Amino acid sequence: MRNILIAGNWKMNGSRASIKELLDGLKAGIDKVTNAKMAVCAPSIYLADVAEQLAGSAISWGAQDVSTEASGAYTGEISASMIKEFGCKYTIIGHSERRTYHGETDELVAKKFAVVLEAGMTPIFCIGETLEEREKGITEEVVARQVQAVIDMHGAAVLGKGVIAYEPVWAIGTGKTASPEQAQDVHAFIRSVIAKADAGVAENIIIQYGGSMNAGNAKDLLSQPDIDGGLIGGASLKAPDFLAIGTSA
Ligand code: PEP
Repeated sequence: MRNILIAGNWKMNGSRASIKELLDGLKAGIDKVTNAKMAVCAPSIYLADVAEQLAGSAISWGAQDVSTEASGAYTGEISASMIKEFGCKYTIIGHSERRTYHGETDELVAKKFAVVLEAGMTPIFCIGETLEEREKGITEEVVARQVQAVIDMHGAAVLGKGVIAYEPVWAIGTGKTASPEQAQDVHAFIRSVIAKADAGVAENIIIQYGGSMNAGNAKDLLSQPDIDGGLIGGASLKAPDFLAIGTSA
């Protein structure tokens, strides 16, 4: 039986004051979330605050990106060991906003996958097709290529140490959610791609859905057999909304 993981991606939102308010709200309500693990992925400048405020709570936390490099002349970058030093559990990698605005390739994201693991954290590995790709009928080709990049570089056993977030790009921040059936079909397909390399990894790996998941649609999405949680953007910024997704699991 796979665990359910609900992770918030705050993106570039918040302030020290708003984050404190959000975390106070989450800590006050987390006891009601009984069937899912909850995590928040904060902007790196706030990781130390988040670490301090979530110490001893049932809520885990993570970063939103990481450098492929360990240290050195990489101005503006943050290494996996720096993040880990604060007690970080997860790091999102390959989010579509990084792929789109920062030109991150499948190969670069595959490198980040191993860097996060080597530092002792769990990668939340984002994949998903654009609207254009869905309309061309190549959704399966795209997600298979993205997953295969990690399998080819590191092997399926390494992939199995991470979490996959299937996020159709056309559903991110748009209010357009994939229907539970659309999402389930792609999740089952992703598992079938992994199964060709390692059936045990395919069975056990957590595959989250992301893309305008909210308190209203979470139950239907999370009740699908191959959907094991969510990566939540907008709805993770308000404690009652994020907790309501957790209690839907
Ligand atoms: C995301 O950023 O990963 C995401 C799913 O955003 P939203 O929930 O706002 O669509």
